[in-house]
Amino acid sequence: MTLIDFSREDIIRAEKEGNHEVYTFIIFLKELVDHGYLDHPTEIGVAKYIISNGTESLTRSQRKVLKEQIMKKFPQNDCELCGEPIPYDELLESYDNGGYCSRCKHNLDKED
Ligand SMILES: [Zn+2]
Repeated sequence: MTLIDFSREDIIRAEKEGNHEVYTFIIFLKELVDHGYLDHPTEIGVAKYIISNGTESLTRSQRKVLKEQIMKKFPQNDCELCGEPIPYDELLESYDNGGYCSRCKHNLDKED
């Protein structure tokens, strides 16, 4: 994944527009923090910082935590069925459902 650079203003705009790459990434980080997926205090600190301030103003060491710890632990996979990259706000769910995006999972469930 290429690390997207976004500012606080981008987050505000993304939240207004919804269904946006920045927006889904923030939702993902909030899920990681809220559901205890991150156990290192530095990772939690960096995630919380990005949720309110974006990635643009991260220091070099914070960026390293994001890239080499958080993103490595939670890689963005392609859907097992349609091959599309799984959006960040569906990523945690996909780890548990066999690696499907929400649309494919929905269709698979309907066939049962
Ligand atoms: Zn799919």
